[in-house]
Amino acid sequence: MVSSCTKYELRCNECGKSYGNVPLSACSECLAPLEVQYDLESVRGRFTRESIAAGPANIWRYKELLPIPEGFQPDLPVGFTPLVRAKNLGKRIGADNLYVKNDAVCFPTLSFKDRVVSVALANAQAFGFTTVGCSSTGNLANSVAAQAARLGLRACILVPSDLEAAKILNTQVYGARLVRIDGNYDHVNRLCTQIADEYNWGFVNVNLRPYYAEGSKTVGYEIAEQLGWRLPDNVVVPMAGGSLIRKIRKAFRELIALGLVEHKNVRFFGAQATGCSPISHAVKEGWDYIEPQRPNTIARSLAIGNPADGPAAAKMIRETGGWAEDVSDVEIVSGIQELAETEGIFTETAGGVTTAVTARLYSHGRISRDETTVVCITGNGLKTTDALEGRFEVERAVKPKLAAFDEYIREVDGSLVGAAQELVLAGGVQ
Ligand SMILES: *Cc1c(COP(=O)(O)O)cnc(C)c1O
Ligand SMILES: [Zn+2]
Repeated sequence: MVSSCTKYELRCNECGKSYGNVPLSACSECLAPLEVQYDLESVRGRFTRESIAAGPANIWRYKELLPIPEGFQPDLPVGFTPLVRAKNLGKRIGADNLYVKNDAVCFPTLSFKDRVVSVALANAQAFGFTTVGCSSTGNLANSVAAQAARLGLRACILVPSDLEAAKILNTQVYGARLVRIDGNYDHVNRLCTQIADEYNWGFVNVNLRPYYAEGSKTVGYEIAEQLGWRLPDNVVVPMAGGSLIRKIRKAFRELIALGLVEHKNVRFFGAQATGCSPISHAVKEGWDYIEPQRPNTIARSLAIGNPADGPAAAKMIRETGGWAEDVSDVEIVSGIQELAETEGIFTETAGGVTTAVTARLYSHGRISRDETTVVCITGNGLKTTDALEGRFEVERAVKPKLAAFDEYIREVDGSLVGAAQELVLAGGVQ
């Protein structure tokens, strides 16, 4: 009988120094990020298409390649969100094989952050933290608050003071302590690093960051499995700290190494808002460093001016033959509407970024129409309704009489009347 415990530990991305398993995010020698490294050989026999298919319909079907401490029994059905064929959006932007990975409906808090938080909190418990927290641009706050409540952990969450009202309420409702900081995300994050040292709290994206980040790999595993154990030609991914995009690639490489999919050089495309575009800027300039920016965009969930994984993300995008683009706030709102009108998916501002960037990548010929492309939609539009304020007229109320309705509908949209009459002439609705 093979042991069911996967071997993994933290190692420095630059100098390779090993750290075992500890709540630490950066190398003490060279300050580079630490990353979870697996002994893939120890997993080979246990991580197969069949064993995965026999697992639960959530991210825990991939637990052999997640850093889950011994004895942890995952029971929250996170992830395994729909991968939908996007024919209508494709028609509009000139793409024949377009898919949307829809994390707008991720469980439990409607963003892809549920994936990373569930992995981080499993480790927080194993390390003995009784209070957890995060620095957040919104979605992470929601997810930490919800999942900490369920695990019986106390939560203290720090956010920039200008966060959307819905994201604040969606944190407080779970009973978490929410602290608004008079500054942007980068100020909040720096403060959290100091608090984590001082208070012995488990910050999911600070001292637990290497474990947290691994949760993002599940987006990549799901895409491959939902495509019938095939890799797409391209992936378009929104970038904040630059972690998600890197981890999808790590997931694809692990699947190739273990023989679950055929080898393929998938191209990675990063999406940012022009008002906070340090990574796309670096990609366009060919830099291997990041010039920090002061964020000013409605895409607040992506508004990280000094992204921790920015340099690595920029380098990796170029290595794969991909590209990065950024779009204006006006284009972001159009992107939200375009995805809703074509595919019936209501995404938040970050998804507006991704949709608008995807359209541009096709129109600029960076992606050609026959290639298979997966667009990662990472958050839900109900959390950022402020972005659409004033976009739709509030119409006057109509009297509850057929004549009044008839008059009204002819006035506002005569085409609706025409369509109904054609059906009548053709013999009614079948
Ligand atoms: C956090 C977040 C991202 C980006 O994640 P990184 O791993 O920090 O690049 C993308 N979309 C949404 C909605 C997010 O909340
Ligand atoms: Zn190092």
